[in-house]
Amino acid sequence: MAEQDYYQTLGVERNATDQEIKKAYRKLALKYHPDKNPDDKEAEDKFKAAAEAYQILSDKEKRQIYDQYGHAGLRGNGGFGGFNADSFAGFEDILGDFFGFGRGGSSRSRTRARQGRSLEQVLELTFMEAFEGSDKTVAIRKNENCETCTGSGLRSGANRKTCGTCGGHGQVQVQSGFFAISRTCPTCRGAGQMIEPSDRCRTCYGKGTVEKETEMKVHIQAGVDTGMQLRVSGKGEPGQHGGPPGDLYLHLKVEEHEYFHRKGDDLFASVPISFSQAALGAEIPIPTLKGEEMLKIPEGTQSGKRFRIAGAGFAIVGRPHRFGDLHVEVVVQTPTRLSKKERELFKELAALNEESSQEEKSVFQKVVDFFN
Ligand SMILES: [Zn+2]
Ligand SMILES: [Zn+2]
Repeated sequence: MAEQDYYQTLGVERNATDQEIKKAYRKLALKYHPDKNPDDKEAEDKFKAAAEAYQILSDKEKRQIYDQYGHAGLRGNGGFGGFNADSFAGFEDILGDFFGFGRGGSSRSRTRARQGRSLEQVLELTFMEAFEGSDKTVAIRKNENCETCTGSGLRSGANRKTCGTCGGHGQVQVQSGFFAISRTCPTCRGAGQMIEPSDRCRTCYGKGTVEKETEMKVHIQAGVDTGMQLRVSGKGEPGQHGGPPGDLYLHLKVEEHEYFHRKGDDLFASVPISFSQAALGAEIPIPTLKGEEMLKIPEGTQSGKRFRIAGAGFAIVGRPHRFGDLHVEVVVQTPTRLSKKERELFKELAALNEESSQEEKSVFQKVVDFFN
């Protein structure tokens, strides 16, 4: 790298304050950062130059040497020796917020509150439970804070040790070309500390959590259907470092009903009626999910006719006091086993039908005539 005037590079006066130098560097670093200028050699050079200048001018001792002796002084004093992972860490702090470098070494990364894992589970309901709403007991296997060590993972009286791999930073620097990239320490997984095998809690083996099956009551509101999801806030796994627990998501699955068929909030059912009920009209009891209701069948009802019983369907979720309808399709049953008396009556009826169909024939004849 050619020798540069560090003050010129950053565009500051020779008597610039630390604050001004930091501000100037930050501005340049953001402008020429390789993430923003991919495959731009010039930007990369400017970025490196600014980083180098900042590294010297932000260091009181190095700045003084540079001011007095220039580049030669820095070389002679073993001052500036090019970039290495350690020196990079300093300005990650400045850029961290912008580029997500992570604040390697800061105490914040070690104790960052983390939300617990959310859990998902299928919850099966009977048709009636979905219709009426219900309180269900749900069994969940999840990690809970260990009671023996209250979640610390430590044997009583023991302490955590600083992680030897990252020196407690929780992050390790990996050199990747010019850049040093911070990665979560593989040994302590970012915690910066670890528990010696002999210091581990005997119940949870140092994990701080144990898998347990717990039961909880959940209220299922009326009207729910297959495919709906119920979120039970805070009932997932416990958070870490004081973070909030995760949530529990229950995926609802409603059983079919042998008699009623559901479509949205409406119910469908078919009801058999007798030949004479269809012909003469009748009032018949209809089973609904709320109990029996009387349905008036008018005279001359055809098989397959649908009747609507308003409000006898499912409660509409999210719309209080609103309900779907029940649609009843009547199916006229043709009698199969006739008594002697019935047979006589049907024969009599047949004779009468013969006469009336004579009249219908004449209507048919009228239609034929029309087309001729
Ligand atoms: Zn570590
Ligand atoms: Zn434990």
